[in-house]
Amino acid sequence: MKYKKGLTLLSAGVMAAVLSLGVTGCNEKTQPQATDIVAEKTTQVTKLEGKTFGTFYYITVPGGYPGGKETLQKDAEFVFKKVSDAISTFDKNAEIARFNDFKSTEDFVISGYLANIIEEVSRQSLRVDQAMDPTVGPLVNLWGFGPSGDIKKSPTDELIAQTKSYVGLDKFELRRAGNTAYLRKADPRVALDLSTIGEGLAADELAALMDEKNIPSYMIAVAGAIRSKGGNADGKLWRVGVEDPLSQGAKVFQVVCPQGMAISTAGSYRNFFLDEDTNKFYSHVIDTKTGRPIDHRTVSVTVIDKSAMVTDALDTGLLVLGAQEAVQWGNKNSTPVYAIEIDDEGKQVATYSRAFEPYLKCVVNQNIATAAPPAQGSN
Ligand code: ADP
Ligand code: MG
Repeated sequence: MKYKKGLTLLSAGVMAAVLSLGVTGCNEKTQPQATDIVAEKTTQVTKLEGKTFGTFYYITVPGGYPGGKETLQKDAEFVFKKVSDAISTFDKNAEIARFNDFKSTEDFVISGYLANIIEEVSRQSLRVDQAMDPTVGPLVNLWGFGPSGDIKKSPTDELIAQTKSYVGLDKFELRRAGNTAYLRKADPRVALDLSTIGEGLAADELAALMDEKNIPSYMIAVAGAIRSKGGNADGKLWRVGVEDPLSQGAKVFQVVCPQGMAISTAGSYRNFFLDEDTNKFYSHVIDTKTGRPIDHRTVSVTVIDKSAMVTDALDTGLLVLGAQEAVQWGNKNSTPVYAIEIDDEGKQVATYSRAFEPYLKCVVNQNIATAAPPAQGSN
């Protein structure tokens, strides 16, 4: 969860330019006019931005946060600490870091909170044929993207093969007994890495906290993972931009309206190193099947789902699989998936699953199941 970017909040200028996107000529008499208005306009907005997990976060609350910016900051920091205390591999005292340091095949007691996270990530891992795999830790370290520091050279084939021998979902066991949860390694060198879901989990936790406070509209972006609800200060649907992977700054490649759903992007273009001997770039996203950083032309994958932790888990796995498989997977699983790859001429080409289409049309879509729980009531 370091350096992750991929989704950008749009500036007002870009928003105005894309307003006509997807507004179809429907018959006014028989059908409601296509609109992107979802809330009242407001001039009272609480905004907060800062750094967490070695990356940036931006929060906007049209209508204002109860208790103002200070309370929002306290709430955000509480959530980031909760997530970091559980899953950071950089903070030696975090639960995962302590488990990784525990070089034993004996039981290791973990919190129910961490157990739930590991269970959910393992479930998502299986859905993408372990292309995203929480046991990738030793390979991440081997390639210099983990807490053990940078390398500038690729490891030997022998070392890669050796490390792969203790990577895989079958290399650890999670067990519960009453209120206690235990992790057990099949090999003392096993190390878990949940970094890829950190931003999504933090965005979900903060969204849940705001839902509890009955805040009708918000936008929470923890690097490339975004949760939003309601509308922006103009009362319109939130718009986010899938980043242009080839541009240096934050340039928008595609405007998307998440319509209350979670959205996140995994990219191979922000965190990498150059091996000067082979003159090759190596990304921080690792294919556990080869034990090496991904080596194909797919540069980013964006996923939409109810939970940002789920999208954040899936985007990494689908990036490993590459654009074609990722979009096929999206079609098979009725999941919105949007991939960008580089073609022979060096141009960026986007492909997306059918379920992604409604999110490209920035008009209110009643058919989209929003992240909010379904309304209770008769019928
Ligand atoms: P992004 O999603 O933008 O690529 P993240 O920071 O969310 O960036 O995830 C990348 C991190 O996930 C890596 O730094 C590494 O710790 C971990 N990681 C790398 N490859 C995998 C993989 N195949 N499965 C799970 N986690 C991975
Ligand atoms: Mg991810």
